[in-house]
Amino acid sequence: MSIAGGVDKAVERGQRTGCEVIQIFTRGNMQWRSRPLRAEEIVAFKARRTETGIAPVFAHDSYLINLGATNPVTLRMSIDGMVDEVQRADALGLPFVVSHPGAHMGAGEDAGLRRIADSLKEVFRQTKNSPVKIALETTAGQGTNLGYRFEHLADIIARVGPERLAVCVDTCHLLAAGYDIREPKSFAAVAKEFGRVIGWKFLAAVHLNDSKTPLGSRVDRHEHIGKGHIGKEAFRLVLNHPHFSRVPGVLETPKGDFEDVSPLDKDNLRLLRSLVKR
Ligand code: FE
Ligand code: FE
Ligand code: ZN
Repeated sequence: MSIAGGVDKAVERGQRTGCEVIQIFTRGNMQWRSRPLRAEEIVAFKARRTETGIAPVFAHDSYLINLGATNPVTLRMSIDGMVDEVQRADALGLPFVVSHPGAHMGAGEDAGLRRIADSLKEVFRQTKNSPVKIALETTAGQGTNLGYRFEHLADIIARVGPERLAVCVDTCHLLAAGYDIREPKSFAAVAKEFGRVIGWKFLAAVHLNDSKTPLGSRVDRHEHIGKGHIGKEAFRLVLNHPHFSRVPGVLETPKGDFEDVSPLDKDNLRLLRSLVKR
């Protein structure tokens, strides 16, 4: 949900869309600089959240941040940016910030994973007493982005320690990365692998997106539910799975050119809810 006009507006948009949970960017998702949250804005946000009962509200980090950056200036800005993300989430009382692990920029996967782990350790050192976690997102593996294998996330967790890390699964990214979740049998195998390699206790959220690009394409393009290469039936499997169904799920599908509340969001929500076995 957009925070245009103030973070509290995101909660109102969520309610008008019919959401039970929402994900927000707490700052411009394509900007390095962020304006500080105003005290009144934080108060208004918490009041709206209580009134609407929307819970949890969680954050997604800025797309510019790369904790695996090889350029020292970019790396510095990324670590500072992530510290800011955690502090903003803390001020708003959000439980976690979903974050793309990072890209190795040609340094190689091992070096990239090591750098990302070191960056995360520094972020946690600089935000020592914060309860806010970072939920590493499974990625499509576009370019040199890491996180397209469950092993990458498990490796980062092993290096950094489990205390302040969690995982967010994105269905579009899973398919693009080559995890076939379309049929009951292959879906069960992917789920089993998640439990074995990462562990269900780390799962904090799901991004429910269909994919414009096919299995293994390594290209990240979100599509409306049921209209892409994943298809409606796979979402039935996700939404009724004993582990996936116990964590909050959010849409990151195109919102179209609408002011404020998107009817496309409402359509996607209605379709997803129709798949849930009561
Ligand atoms: Fe993401
Ligand atoms: Fe996502
Ligand atoms: Zn994506």
